[in-house]
Amino acid sequence: MFPMLQLFGVQIVRLFFVKTVKGIIEELKLQRGHQTISLDEYMKLPSFIVDIKSRCEKHDEKYDFYCRFHGDPCCVKCIKDKHKDCRDFDPFVEVLRDIKTSAKVSNLEKFNILLENFETTVKYLKSRITTIQENKTESLNEIRNLRASINEHLDEIEKKLVDDLSAEYDKIRIKYDHLTSEMENKKKSIQRLQNYFSKITLYAADLQIYVGLQYLEKLASEEVGYLTELQRKGQLDEIRLESKFSSDLKC
Ligand SMILES: [Zn+2]
Ligand SMILES: [Zn+2]
Repeated sequence: MFPMLQLFGVQIVRLFFVKTVKGIIEELKLQRGHQTISLDEYMKLPSFIVDIKSRCEKHDEKYDFYCRFHGDPCCVKCIKDKHKDCRDFDPFVEVLRDIKTSAKVSNLEKFNILLENFETTVKYLKSRITTIQENKTESLNEIRNLRASINEHLDEIEKKLVDDLSAEYDKIRIKYDHLTSEMENKKKSIQRLQNYFSKITLYAADLQIYVGLQYLEKLASEEVGYLTELQRKGQLDEIRLESKFSSDLKC
């Protein structure tokens, strides 16, 4: 399509083919009813507009027609050349007649709609950012709560392990204390027997010694029996105190 546009308020008028910028400006003056257009003003036009020539560059002829099928402006030679089979031509002067008004209206509307679309999209993206920020805060709170409940659970497990360990220690300690005091009593009995034995051998008559020794022998063998029984029952085995952790607690 021949790009005669009204773009962002910049007026595009029909440009005649000239070799220099000065020549183009002279032509523009004619088009605009001898209005003055400065070089500065002209240079403000975007380059894709400045590059548009108003005559056919290939044939150096004036554009007289517009091919609807190709959307191209054509000179008489173009029609013979590229548009041999084309049938639908408009006179170029008519195509350009109301170009200012129609281009201005339709394109301004298009750009307004496009701008609105971008504004809506920017608003949407900003609202998404707000939402995901809220999501992040919610998730952080959930992580903190999870951490707190894990801590609480670990405290409970630790307390149970410590309580169990203390209870087991107390049980063994009481048993050992009891055995120890029994042993202390046995020690005293043995010391007493030792004492009897030395006195008997020093002061008793032979028969008394004989009978007395047999009695002492019996008492001593009872104490040996007591110790043997303790060992047999495993009461003197080495006990190791330790905590057992279930495998899912180990890291
Ligand atoms: Zn041509
Ligand atoms: Zn054509």
